[in-house]
Amino acid sequence: MILGIDIGGTSSKLGLVHEDKVIARARIATLGHADDHAFADALVRETARLTTETGRPITAIGIGAPNANQLTGIIEMAPNLPWKHDVPLARMMSDRIGVPATLGNDANAAALGEWRYGAGRGIDDLIVVTLGTGVGSGFIVNGRLVLGSAGNAGELGHAILQPEGRACTCGRKGCLEAYVSIRGMLATYAEEGGAANPTDVKTIADLAHAGESAAIACFQRTTEWLSIGLANAVCATGPKRIVLFGGIARNGDLLMAPLRERFHANLLNIYQGRVDLTVSALPDDDAALLGAAALGTL
Ligand SMILES: [Zn+2]
Repeated sequence: MILGIDIGGTSSKLGLVHEDKVIARARIATLGHADDHAFADALVRETARLTTETGRPITAIGIGAPNANQLTGIIEMAPNLPWKHDVPLARMMSDRIGVPATLGNDANAAALGEWRYGAGRGIDDLIVVTLGTGVGSGFIVNGRLVLGSAGNAGELGHAILQPEGRACTCGRKGCLEAYVSIRGMLATYAEEGGAANPTDVKTIADLAHAGESAAIACFQRTTEWLSIGLANAVCATGPKRIVLFGGIARNGDLLMAPLRERFHANLLNIYQGRVDLTVSALPDDDAALLGAAALGTL
């Protein structure tokens, strides 16, 4: 049985994964611990409670976290986490529990989760793109997660799409993430002169369904940008499937249907008919835990 841990900015989830299901889960606050060691101790206490509950031993630990480097096992000064120094969490957990631990960034965890347990199961050439506040991505090529020379491969969200375009959180301009994330879609809606003041994509979707032209244009432009970003990514790794994860991708009629069309229109001819585009099949609540656990299967 694998212990999956998903470290978030305010709370962190733990789950015991047996075969392809989370069979026991817990949650602790990420904030409010004396230091990173006290946080690790709290994770261990919850783990002990879960293993007592299920009566099964843990064989491996997988941890998904922002700014996590799989090559070093270190969370590197994540801006949204309370520790302003490097935290070698893989070793800290492995030492405490006595089984191997693998740490990875949350987008790579999501990719592995889809590959092991979700819509990418059995597909050894896969790209997983998470569409949320930002855009994350993980690339599986020839049956291996691509880490790159420094453990930081797979940042499709920061591929530049528009020279001198919108400001991105990374400090540069025109990244994909500045257009197709939640924040990007809110900006596009405003650019299109939308009358409402939406704070989420669901509101824009509701307005589009009601026929509001700014909301419809927002989805059209988002679809076009994303189709170009994905068609470009295909040129790099030649995947068999692309899996999209996150609330934005759950807009079937407004996004996925036109996206498939625009993606194929923008796809280089040698890839035509060789790559499909699908939406995550993992349950929302357990996706991050399954992804973290999948790191433990490496
Ligand atoms: Zn960027």
